[in-house]
Amino acid sequence: MIPLSKPLTDKKEVKAAEEVILSGWLTQGPKVVDLEQAVKDFTGVEYACAVTSCTTALYLSLLALGIGPGSKVATVSHSFIATANSVRYTGADPVFVDIDIDTYNMSAYDLEKTVEVKQVDAVLVVHQMGMPAELDAIFKVCSKRSIPVIEDSACAIGSEVLFGGEWRRVGNPVSKFSCYSFHPRKVVTTGEGGMITTNDESLYRKVLALRQHGVDIDATERHGKKDLVIESYNTLGYNFRMSDIQAAVGVEQMKRLPELIKERRDIDKAYRKYLNAAPRIIPPFEPSYCRSNFQSYPLAILDDNIDQSKLISHLLSKGISAKPGIMNAHEEPTYEQWKNIQLPMSEQARRNTILVPFFNGLAIKDIKYISKTINEYVR
Ligand SMILES: *Cc1c(COP(=O)(O)O)cnc(C)c1O
Repeated sequence: MIPLSKPLTDKKEVKAAEEVILSGWLTQGPKVVDLEQAVKDFTGVEYACAVTSCTTALYLSLLALGIGPGSKVATVSHSFIATANSVRYTGADPVFVDIDIDTYNMSAYDLEKTVEVKQVDAVLVVHQMGMPAELDAIFKVCSKRSIPVIEDSACAIGSEVLFGGEWRRVGNPVSKFSCYSFHPRKVVTTGEGGMITTNDESLYRKVLALRQHGVDIDATERHGKKDLVIESYNTLGYNFRMSDIQAAVGVEQMKRLPELIKERRDIDKAYRKYLNAAPRIIPPFEPSYCRSNFQSYPLAILDDNIDQSKLISHLLSKGISAKPGIMNAHEEPTYEQWKNIQLPMSEQARRNTILVPFFNGLAIKDIKYISKTINEYVR
């Protein structure tokens, strides 16, 4: 069976984790600092704060902006459920915006229509499957109304976006915060983990305290001091610390990142070369303002005679993993309250898209085989 996804790890990650385990310092410490530095070096961002997941990263970012009960946050339903959940944890309500069907990302047009009729306190934009959202257009909508933006960059480490005429790495945000995930399904992994990045020092100080019980000085800093230091707890915070074991794995993964991205862009080219099912099934659209890391690989079914589940079953029977497009939060039981809202493009994207194998190490012969299987099915 060719899997949908597979992280690339080897002895280097094993050795890095082993060294930490034998070092005597296992939780958040020097390796977390190293991983934060690696992210800063890679993206050019000023501040980075490692946490337990992208879910907690998003939650702390929203809290740091003062989002809470009574607030409204515009975001997409068409995303992994963690995006909308992070809003609900704060007590705020998500206000769902539809997507552009060709990019699977928030529609700036629909966002503008939404904020014209509803007062929203923040916009949480997703770079879905690694493909950057149309930030230029979204910022135009938000800037004139002074609405803060947060980026859910869970999937988008290594992706780049053209903003104001300049290419920027996702993770060096023009927005208030950007949040990465290090789940094994993403491009860089620490098993579980996340990273908040920002270019605003006071916002950085807020999330830094919130990840560790609201304390004013962390254990690494205190440990280095010769004098007695009594910490003080100024706000109600959490334990969202990443362990040094995870961070050490992440540091090794970050060294691989440029190579990982290069290979993924080659895999995309190979799919485009061998997949000949257009116009009935087409590879992902990459707008001119995007350089994607292709965290996931969606194929759009543009022919009503091709049934999504039958195609997936066919691929599975041929030893190829495949699954439906990204979920919609508003279609889940826990979002019952939102089930009647109209998000036609989000619903269409879920039903008319399949995800196919895409990972570092996917062999050309497998790409040929997957493409051929799809080409023949469509004929
Ligand atoms: C995976 C994912 C998340 C959650 O990331 P975790 O690190 O697993 O919490 C959030 N948003 C999007 C878009 C994701 O794909």
